[in-house]
Amino acid sequence: MKVLVINAGSSSLKYQLMDPDTNEVYAKGLCERIGIDGRLTHKVPATNGKYEFEIPMPTHAEAIQAVLDALTNAEHGVIKSMDEIQAVGHRVVHGGEKFASSALLTQEVMDALEECIPLAPLHNPANITGIQACKKVMPGVPMVGVFDTAFHQTMPPKSYIYALPYEYYEEDKVRRYGFHGTSHKYVSGRAAAMLGKPIEELKIITCHLGNGSSVTAVDHGKSVDTSMGFTPLAGVPMGTRSGDLDAGILEYLMNKHGYDMAAMMNILNKKSGVLGISGVSSDFRDLENAAADGNERAALALEAFQYSVKKLVGAYAAAMGGVDAIVFTAGVGENDPATRMAVAGGLEFMGVKMDAAANNVRGKETVISAPDSKVKVLLIPTDEELMIARDTAEIVSKL
Ligand code: AMP
Repeated sequence: MKVLVINAGSSSLKYQLMDPDTNEVYAKGLCERIGIDGRLTHKVPATNGKYEFEIPMPTHAEAIQAVLDALTNAEHGVIKSMDEIQAVGHRVVHGGEKFASSALLTQEVMDALEECIPLAPLHNPANITGIQACKKVMPGVPMVGVFDTAFHQTMPPKSYIYALPYEYYEEDKVRRYGFHGTSHKYVSGRAAAMLGKPIEELKIITCHLGNGSSVTAVDHGKSVDTSMGFTPLAGVPMGTRSGDLDAGILEYLMNKHGYDMAAMMNILNKKSGVLGISGVSSDFRDLENAAADGNERAALALEAFQYSVKKLVGAYAAAMGGVDAIVFTAGVGENDPATRMAVAGGLEFMGVKMDAAANNVRGKETVISAPDSKVKVLLIPTDEELMIARDTAEIVSKL
């Protein structure tokens, strides 16, 4: 089955056409500057082809049309006609408490997505716009929504409840939701496959460390706790996001500097994290270079990040009463041996013994703990698109 995977942002749209049974990726690419002018980058892995086009994209509908034109183009296309696309899988950031799994995008589901907008005002409107544009350009093709929050809907109340007056949960739906669920689900599944055991028998801690980062406790295949919260601002320090902090700081800084809430949130989302601490960059490569050149704040930013992840590994091992495997994934987790060592090194007391030579790799599925490590430490490149395509194919094949 050929499935088109779409990840729509407010002015960008990523796509991938693939077969979830064989994992073959026929083409993938990115539309950028939607609503401004419009640029399409289209790649065909089989031929290593990369094509760039300037195409007017006043709305997402023109962007989707440009994607379909690229996919069916006589020269750089990979299919003869749009009819070969049997289903479309859309990444949706927030499914609230309504969606514990992926769902066929019926009108009823679209209405429910609209209701989730207040929970993710930056992301869900863009996702919905992408879905609507796709429905317009590809009428009759079944579409499925795959939610970043869905995998975490198995968390027990003690994990997701905030210690606020209970009516804020009951009436306003304020609770921990967690994000990156598609990635945590994928890598925990791969971890079980690598260990040759059913996931129902394993306790796994998955560290999705990228520009945005989250850590999840996956107990017997179910997310039982995760570090992101009501929004993706919570948890460990990130590229530019603060992660967890004392809410009292907001009042103090807002009063002292006369910030309004929008200015404060901009600081927490865009100017904090490792960028904020270092003053250098949100990119871990830049930070490592700066730290190597003696920049103490860059070194501190890296240390604060690594320490924060390490504490969660300990916390989630305690929460699950043990751990069989620790998984690293996403940009930093897949590519940065130093961060992996800083997080998982020195944990011999809990049965984790890293192998420095094995850890000196990037971007491939491999074991990076010592052969005699009781807890296996794994590097697993994430593949959210494959997960979205698989869920989509599964739902559509039952129609
Ligand atoms: P992601 O959000 O998963 O795409 O991850 C992006 C982040 O991965 C970038 O901001 C970089 O900081 C980080 N990254 C990518 N390659 C490397 C590398 N070779 N070493 C350290 N960090 C890396």
